Amino acid sequence: SRRKIIAGNWKMNMTPSQAVKLVDELKDLVVNDAVDVVYCVPAIDIVPVVEAVKGTNVKVGAENMYFEDKGAYTGEISAEMLKDAGVEYVIIGHSERRDYFKECDCVLNKKVKKAIESGLTPILCCGESLEQREMGVTMDWIRLQIKSDLKDVAADDVKNMVIAYEPIWAIGTGKTATTEQAEEVCKGIRDCIAEIYDVATAEAVRIQYGGSVNAGNAAELFAQPDIDGGLVGGASLKADFGKIVNY
Ligand code: 13P
Repeated sequence: SRRKIIAGNWKMNMTPSQAVKLVDELKDLVVNDAVDVVYCVPAIDIVPVVEAVKGTNVKVGAENMYFEDKGAYTGEISAEMLKDAGVEYVIIGHSERRDYFKECDCVLNKKVKKAIESGLTPILCCGESLEQREMGVTMDWIRLQIKSDLKDVAADDVKNMVIAYEPIWAIGTGKTATTEQAEEVCKGIRDCIAEIYDVATAEAVRIQYGGSVNAGNAAELFAQPDIDGGLVGGASLKADFGKIVNY
């Protein structure tokens, strides 16, 4: 059976000093040895947060990375830099990166491959817009994202990665997908992995739900057979995150 993974995505919040303070405040609240707990934090917070979580069950993730090894890519951060700083996970293809920073699937595919090659666990995000849901093309769209983002990624590597289903209309809106909607798409993603790879790979890959997860809805979402935890935005910056981790 799959171990649940509950990750906070801090987005562009928390200065380094605020970050250390938050980690300290959450320290006793996020203890749950039955699940993996990850803080995905802004690049500048990585070093102090890795230090601040030492001796706890919390792992650190990045919110983005670049796919080249090194060189003249002003402003970018490599997988090797993340790894060396103590990062274990990296969010790839969040809808905000796809939308505001125009990251396309071919770039995201390179990032997924580089992360894996570097020993980082990708948390690959996918999800439909409200228009796509209303047009009834949700699963077609997500299948397309998954197929392109995982192009030439080996089954054994997919088994170890995390996929986050985040309907764009549920992000930061307080409008959570219903449990049925979330489970339906997470199951659809698992079926898609079974189609591209095999059943063993589909059964192994962990699929999170993200989009207005809070202390009140986490338990029901995480009880679904195909939802292996959550990617939490706003609620990860508050004591509520402890309740989510101990759903
Ligand atoms: P919210 O939990 O704030 O809706 O954000 C979800 C998200 O985008 C996590 O990556």
